[in-house]
Amino acid sequence: MPYLSVVVPIYNEQDNIPQLWERLGKVLRENFQGARDWECIFTDDGSRDMSLKLLTDLAKGEPRIKVVEFNRNYGQHAAIFGAFAEVSGQVVVTLDADLQNPPEEIPKLVAKVEEGFDVVGGWRQGRTENDSLFRTLPSKIVNAITRKTTGVKLNDYGCMLRAYNREVIDAMLMCKERHAFIPALANSFAKRITEVPVGHAERAAGDSKYGVWKLINLQFDLLTSFSLLPLQMLSVVGVIISAVSILFALGLLVYRFLHPEGTVQGVFTLFAILFFMVGLQFLAFGLLGEYIGRIYVEARDRPRYMVRKVHQAGGRRPEPESSRLQPPVSRLSNSPHPS
Ligand code: UDP
Ligand code: MG
Repeated sequence: MPYLSVVVPIYNEQDNIPQLWERLGKVLRENFQGARDWECIFTDDGSRDMSLKLLTDLAKGEPRIKVVEFNRNYGQHAAIFGAFAEVSGQVVVTLDADLQNPPEEIPKLVAKVEEGFDVVGGWRQGRTENDSLFRTLPSKIVNAITRKTTGVKLNDYGCMLRAYNREVIDAMLMCKERHAFIPALANSFAKRITEVPVGHAERAAGDSKYGVWKLINLQFDLLTSFSLLPLQMLSVVGVIISAVSILFALGLLVYRFLHPEGTVQGVFTLFAILFFMVGLQFLAFGLLGEYIGRIYVEARDRPRYMVRKVHQAGGRRPEPESSRLQPPVSRLSNSPHPS
């Protein structure tokens, strides 16, 4: 039974996998042996390149590697969930495949979990030099909003180099929502949370899978899954606008009495105000739509991802049923190895 489970989501990372495993494998072999054995779980999130082949080849030579093969691309967080469903270690570490997160930091994170923390986040140092402003600015905003909506004061929510106590993983697996943002979700189940500074490098090869649009979506995931504040703000804005318009009407009335002969003025000012209000209303619709859309997606209750196969040399070693609180609910596996 492994002690440490390392989870890596993979989507079109063929150029990074060899180097990743060289460094990651070395760290694991050198720091975790005997009673503190390790396992490494890669999720192939529907890659279109040679990633799956590279991973299954790795798994053939190392029985401690498991490869969870998805039938298509479901996104980074779904990929991590897919691997979580397979972990058996006491401590679970997640990591990006592009070597932006140095694997050498893993022992440091694990040591923090051993100190008694439930969640240990990486806090990326030296980000501004290695990432473009285009990429850091959105994350800064995401971090700020996340801090506000989740109420947990952390510096870096976007870093996926994180370590978790197994109980937190089991709790997360019980969550069925599709729009889950793992770092924030984990914090909602953790009692003791901390951050450790970790290195941060440039992406070793390939392109970032996050465009501006995906980032905006991620932000909405965060906002809508952890807070009803935006909905409540809608009513507040409504009240403010009504109050202002009452004042405005009163002002017009007074003007009418002071200048009975005066003609209508400020038509264009009124247009400006009107357009502003119309814009605001559409914004509000949009926001309502986001929530409703998410309710719709959750109500359909489709599986978060589908596993085509779990690759492991020597077959999967099934876990004793009692070691898990409850089987992950939204998992639909057609794996040939019965668990
Ligand atoms: N990833 C994934 N599925 C996706 C997009 C990304 O599994 O749909 C993986 C990707 O292979 C990488 C990690 O998630 O290991 C982070 O992706 P990326 O480096 O593109 O994100 P960024 O560092 O730009 O936030
Ligand atoms: Mg990256």
